[in-house]
Amino acid sequence: VIVGAGPAGLYAADALTYQAGPNAEVDVLDRLPTPFGLLRYGVAPDHFKMKSLEKVMQRIIDRPSVRFLGNVALGTDVTRADLLERYDAVIYAYGAPLARRLNIAGEELPGSAAASDFVAWYNGHPECSVDFGGFVASSVAIIGMGNVALDVARILLMQRDKLPVTDIADRALRHLVEHRPTDVYIVGRRGVAQARFTLKELREIGDLEDVAIIVDPDELAVSEIDVHELAGKPDMAPILQTFHGWAKAPRKATPHRLHFRFLLEPERIQGTSRVEAIRLQRMTGDSRGVTRGTGEYVEIRSGAVIRSLGQTGRMLPDIPFDPKTGTVPNVQGRVAGRHGPAAKEFVTGWARRGSTGVIGNTRGDAAELAELIRTTIRSEPEGAAPPDLIELLAARGVQVVTAECWSRIDRRERDMGKELGRPRVKLESVGEMLSAARAVDSTTRPPGPRTAPQENLS
Ligand SMILES: Cc1cc2nc3c(=O)[nH]c(=O)nc-3n(C[C@H](O)[C@H](O)[C@H](O)COP(=O)(O)OP(=O)(O)OC[C@H]3O[C@@H](n4cnc5c(N)ncnc54)[C@H](O)[C@@H]3O)c2cc1C
Repeated sequence: VIVGAGPAGLYAADALTYQAGPNAEVDVLDRLPTPFGLLRYGVAPDHFKMKSLEKVMQRIIDRPSVRFLGNVALGTDVTRADLLERYDAVIYAYGAPLARRLNIAGEELPGSAAASDFVAWYNGHPECSVDFGGFVASSVAIIGMGNVALDVARILLMQRDKLPVTDIADRALRHLVEHRPTDVYIVGRRGVAQARFTLKELREIGDLEDVAIIVDPDELAVSEIDVHELAGKPDMAPILQTFHGWAKAPRKATPHRLHFRFLLEPERIQGTSRVEAIRLQRMTGDSRGVTRGTGEYVEIRSGAVIRSLGQTGRMLPDIPFDPKTGTVPNVQGRVAGRHGPAAKEFVTGWARRGSTGVIGNTRGDAAELAELIRTTIRSEPEGAAPPDLIELLAARGVQVVTAECWSRIDRRERDMGKELGRPRVKLESVGEMLSAARAVDSTTRPPGPRTAPQENLS
């Protein structure tokens, strides 16, 4: 069984039903009624090529040897013990959903939020915990120097007629067409050499037609620490060139501006009843590779602060968890328990590595994991096996969303989209999803015989 139907879980299902033996059968659970994890709820809606991976993932779900069981949460609906007594191997692929914090004063003010919440809002996640309906200000500061910060800035600044052709959540579309900020700041506490943007995403933001990119040449100046770091990072050369190009280019005459600010550490978010500004200390690098404060402070006036500092894992009952790394401790994917390696528990994706890496990385992990399982796990003889999980869930009153039910949700969303000339309109609450799925229980799709896999889809 695989817990989590995000890219890591589904690639693991793919690899297992292809690599681990002709008779491998896999159940994939997800706490949401919908599969695809951050591919559906993280990847930016205008990243069409990446979103099209959903088709590949769907074909994995459609395999006869794979059974999708949505709306089933480990820790609430099923326990670790339930899984261990039913399956030959248990794979944790439940991601790293919690946003890291700045831990500075003012972080709780209305107008301050995590990028993961903002992303969840514009991607229609049913558990989005912040209502951004009245949130988007004319000036927004994004703290963090990675591709998620670029995604947020791009969605905030892009021309509004480019949004409806995406599957952006209806609630976000309605709001964003009315509100387009004038100034967005992407702010990092370290220098340009430590930025974690990739070239493709940087160029993409540079291509926004009516947005001026503003870079202060002084902040770009490469300190000794940068020289040291850059020596080991040849990929950084074109990124630096891009920034220097922007710093020199004549400024576009447009009311929409994206400012990149380097070497500024957030000290406090200011405001009385909501965010009004962020105060930052200017930093400098030294030759030992240490960034330190200069004692000089600057203020950026902004009605919203979005922190984009990465994510960390959530601790689930009975499952080992390392609070320092926010991951399930493991040795090359095998869960490391208190008394040594677990006999048949494994971990993959962001639950294994933390919030680093792209979807492609989870595919490599999956192949490695399938090989490990193929060579170490023997199927236990049948006989005194407990009832199928789906029966247990039915007895507990859990409405399981099978692949068939998910296809009804999918169809409903596409049909709603068609009426509006959009690719889909996402259902934004679990209740709506379950009603589209027509409240399915164990009798709707009893576990039947499954055939052997024929192709590796990934
Ligand atoms: C904002 C953002 C944008 C990104 N954009 C890109 C991009 O453009 N290209 C790219 O390659 N990568 C991108 N990534 C990275 C990519 O999303 C990750 O590499 C990938 O999703 C990690 O896969 P995962 O399956 O480990 O985790 P997730 O995708 O988070 O999947 C975890 C799944 O587990 C489920 N789950 C959680 N808890 C439980 C539980 N208790 N019981 C059952 N199920 C549970 C969740 O509902 C979820 O479906 C982006 C990430 C973010 C945050």
